[in-house]
Order: sequence, then C-alpha cells, then structure tokens
Amino acid sequence: MEITETRELLYNLIHSSAEAITFADLEGTVQFTNPAADQLYGYEPGELRGRNVDIFNSRQTLHTDEIVAAITATGKWQGELLQRRKDGSVFYAALRVSLIYDAQGHPIGFGSHSHDISERKNYEERIQYLAHHDALTELPNRTLFFDRLEQCVISARKSGSYSAVLCLDLDRFKAINDARGHPVGDELLKQVGQRIVGSLAEGDTVARMGGDEFTIILKNLGPAVLDAARKAEATAEQILAVIQNPLSVAGQQIHVTTSIGINMFRGDDDNIMNLLKHADTAMYRSKEQGRNQICFFLPEMQADVNQRLHIERELKTAMQVTDQLELFLQPVLRLAEQCVCSYEVLLRWKTDTGWRMPDTFINIAEQSGQIQKLGNKVLRDVLALRRQILERDPQFEDHIAINVSSIQFRLPDFVQEYQSILQSSGQSAQGLILELTESVLIDDMEDIITKMHQLKELGFRIHIDDFGTGYSSLNYLRRLPLDGLKIDRSFVGALDTDPEAKLIIQLICDMARSLNLVTIAEGVENTSQLQILAGTGCDYFQGFWYSPAVPAAELGLIDLGVS
Ligand code: C2E
Ligand code: CA
Ligand code: CA
Repeated sequence: MEITETRELLYNLIHSSAEAITFADLEGTVQFTNPAADQLYGYEPGELRGRNVDIFNSRQTLHTDEIVAAITATGKWQGELLQRRKDGSVFYAALRVSLIYDAQGHPIGFGSHSHDISERKNYEERIQYLAHHDALTELPNRTLFFDRLEQCVISARKSGSYSAVLCLDLDRFKAINDARGHPVGDELLKQVGQRIVGSLAEGDTVARMGGDEFTIILKNLGPAVLDAARKAEATAEQILAVIQNPLSVAGQQIHVTTSIGINMFRGDDDNIMNLLKHADTAMYRSKEQGRNQICFFLPEMQADVNQRLHIERELKTAMQVTDQLELFLQPVLRLAEQCVCSYEVLLRWKTDTGWRMPDTFINIAEQSGQIQKLGNKVLRDVLALRRQILERDPQFEDHIAINVSSIQFRLPDFVQEYQSILQSSGQSAQGLILELTESVLIDDMEDIITKMHQLKELGFRIHIDDFGTGYSSLNYLRRLPLDGLKIDRSFVGALDTDPEAKLIIQLICDMARSLNLVTIAEGVENTSQLQILAGTGCDYFQGFWYSPAVPAAELGLIDLGVS
C-alpha cells in the first residue's frame, strides 16, 4: 500500500469513528478534531482548531495537574471527566489521552479519545441515591439517617448545643392499609412524608425507617435544655397538626393521627442506637397515653422498659407452668334481692413475691403478641373450672364472665380459636359471658358485627365493659347483638361526691332498657353507693362491698385444695 493511500485510509477511519478524537500540540492547542468530537462538544467543523483544550474542562473538575503528571510519567492517562460543551452544558465522558510521538520519537502532542457516558453516570447516581433513600417516599432511608445522626452527635458534642431525635409512627396504619388496600397505604405514606418535610427547618432530616415508621433529627436547638425541649415540642406539635388534617388519597378522605417520641441529646450518649431506642420507647409511651400524643424520653422509662421486658419473658414461662396463672372469681349480685347470680373471672399471677395483678401484665401480653395464647388459656381454664363446679353441684347455673382484650378480639382467627377450645372441652358456651371494652367498637364495624354474631351462635352472651368511658353512640349499639352494659367503676366511685354521677348512671340504665340490655354496676364499695344505685334502675352490681375476687375454693364452689 502506498503511503498516501495509508494516510487516506487512516484519515477516513478517524473521520468516521464514533469516538470523539482530538489532537492537540504540546501547548494544548487543538490541531485536529474529527466530526464525532465536534458533535460531542457542540462545535462547527474546524471551529475548535487553534483553541486550547481547557475549553473542554468543566470548572467542576480541573484535574489537569494530575493528568499532566500521569502523562509525563507513563505517556498516557485515562479516566472519567466532567466535560463542557460549547453551550456551557456539561456531561460525563470517558477519556483516554496519550502522548503522540513523531517518527524520530519526539513527543509532538496529545491525542485523546472520548465518549459520552452521562447515561451510565446518571444510572450510577440513581443507584447511589437509592442506596440512601427510600424508593417510595424519596426520603432518606435508615442508612442515611444513621449517617446523619452520627454527624449530628459529633457536632452536638463540639458545640454543646442540644439536638433531638424523634420517632413517629402512624396510629392504626395497619388497619387502614388492610381496609383500603396497599396502593392507598403507599400514597398515604408519601403524603405524610411530604407533610413532615414541610414542618421541618432547613438542615433537619426526616427518614423513613420502613413501614409507617419515620424518624427525624432536629439540629442545633440551643444549649439550654428546657428551651431546646420546647423547640422540639413545638415542631412535634406542628407535625401532629399537619398529619391530623384529613389527607385526600385516591379520591378518599383519610383521617390519620400519629404518636411521637422525643429524645433530646447533646453528644453525651454517643451510642446512636440508644438515642433512637430511647425515642422509640417514648413513642410507645405516647401510644399508651391514647395516641395522637407527644412524649419525651425520661431515664426512668429505661428502667420501665427493662421491667416490662422482664415480665414479658416471665409470662412466657408462666403460661407453660401450671398453677402460676390462677383464676379468681368476683361475685356479681342481683341488686334487688342481693343474691349472687354470676362471677367475673379475674386473672392473678402467682410469683415468688406475691400475687401480680392483671393491670401489670395484660397490656404487656397484648404488646408482645402473647394475648391470644393467654386469652385462650383463660377460656380453657374457665371450662375446666366449671366442670369441677358442676361435679360438685350439678344444679350450678350461675353465669361466668370472661374478659376479652380488644387486641385479642381483633385477631382474624379469634372466634375459630374459641370455637375449637369449646369443641375439645365438649362444653357449650351457654352460661358464659364475654366482657369486651368499648375500645373494641372503634374498628371495622362489619367485622365486629360478624364476629359478635358468630360468638352468639356459639352460645356466648356479650357485655360491654367499662361502659361510659368510650364514645359508643346509641345508634352504634343498636346494631350490635349485645346482652348487657357494665357501667364503668369511675361513675360508681363518684356517686358519693358527684350528684351528676347518679344522673349518668340513670341515663345509661334507661338507654340499656330501651335496647333490652341488662346493666351491671362495678366497683361498689359501700352501702351508700348501693342505696343510690337502687334508684337508678340498675340490675346487677359487684364490688369490694360484697367481695373482692377470690379463688373459687374460697367461695365454696370447689373443694379446698383443688384448683
Ligand atoms: P375490669 O374488667 O374492669 O375488672 C374489674 C377490676 O376492678 C378488677 O381489677 C377488680 O379487682 C376491680 N374491682 C372489683 N371490685 C372493686 C371495687 O369495689 N373497687 C375497686 N376500686 N376495684 C374493684 P383487676 O382484677 O386488677 O383487673 C384489672 C383489669 O384487668 C380488668 O378490669 C380487666 O380489664 C383485666 N383483666 C383481668 N383478668 C383478665 C383476663 O383474664 N383477660 C383479659 N383480657 N383481661 C383481664
Ligand atoms: Ca371486666
Ligand atoms: Ca370494668
């Protein structure tokens, strides 16, 4: 091949290459560009000749020194650079630059090959972004949250200024998600995330940790703890308020509330896991206090948490060991004749240090997922106890009332569990009363009605416990297959001092009669309460005045020594 032919061939190859190829002399003055280079950098053919290669450099990445050093040492450099087009726009290019020599081996300039890799870069950036953000809400995720929290602890320690970490959890989100579907739940989370962002100051962080759980860092709240706490509380209140405003999701108005726990810190406790755990503990306290609340973490809560965890573990064993959980019975009497006609079963837990009362462990059983097991055990034990009573007294016809936790009632297989326990005991539910608190009634109405009818078919009677403390309306009650209302003991306790208490009880009894329900007053402690009650139309009563809850043997229902 002739030299001229070779030259022409090479020229054509370079000219038609899809790679952008440029040649600059040792001063960096461009001598040649191929059409791909003109196009890549946005210049007319020939326009680049005579310009310095500096014009390709984006101001954001001037690595010239590094590149020159590499080329001086090895004759070449390759890498990725942010490049600038004629119109000023920038893009990522993969670049290879090499020193070009003449026939005598003297360097004469730089040749460079480059192509646009913006698309790949964008993709990589997206991956990088997703590694630190939650795909649904686009908020920072757990990883980024901990990064920021760590930074915040370091700067708080230096500055002595307080910061706060907040835990936030939507109340009853699961119920909304189940009832309205996951797409609605997802949209709801997105909107909640945006509303939180809108309540925060610049520089604060809100992250989604998963599910309906959000965490927030409020920075630089100042060196005075009370002042800082007030600021954190104001932000938390603002968040409660904006979330409480109905959200519009897929054409539906949804009302949600949230519970917030706040933990203030100043870098003294540098374990970021603990910072978050304490905020979480405070959040659970808010939920316990009735939801839609704010609660600050206090060191006493830590002791409380340890105590609860301890009880939770002990309860697990107590349920397996016989004799530890015992049924006590409190007699219920007919008000008119003052004769015992039924018993309420109240659970007692025998420990080395004495009897533990249900108020100290029922809610722990509820929160640790043990309530169904516990509730089932109570029903089994009640059936066994009734069998013993009947062996002794075949005429026994008194009713036995069992408390059912609203959390247990809400479980989808609650009725089936009860049904199979009845079946294996060979007894019917005739003569058994289930006491459900009013808090059962706030959920999915159709589900409640269905379950209540199923329970009635099994033979149970249903009473509403602690009546008057919730919000059930007459219309609501009318739709439920109920048998009785148990008037909350706070009304009975107030009879001595508050004349209005009698009126309220009277109203409840009138309403109950119109719905064909019996009424029971609980917590009767003295004769004067009993006398006032007699004028209200109430049917039954129970309380310390007659007897506290005691073992069945003490009531003479079974033989002493048998339990
Ligand atoms: P509750 O259903 O409202 O039960 C009545 C509570 O009032 C009992 O407390 C009882 O001992 C107490 N009491 C009875 N008479 C009087 C009185 O004259 N004055 C006063 N001040 N109190 C009186 P206890 O046994 O500590 O039970 C507390 C709660 O624990 C119960 O409230 C009930 O909600 C729950 N509970 C008890 N046993 C069970 C159970 O087996 N399962 C479930 N799910 N909950 C239970
Ligand atoms: Ca009760
Ligand atoms: Ca009660």
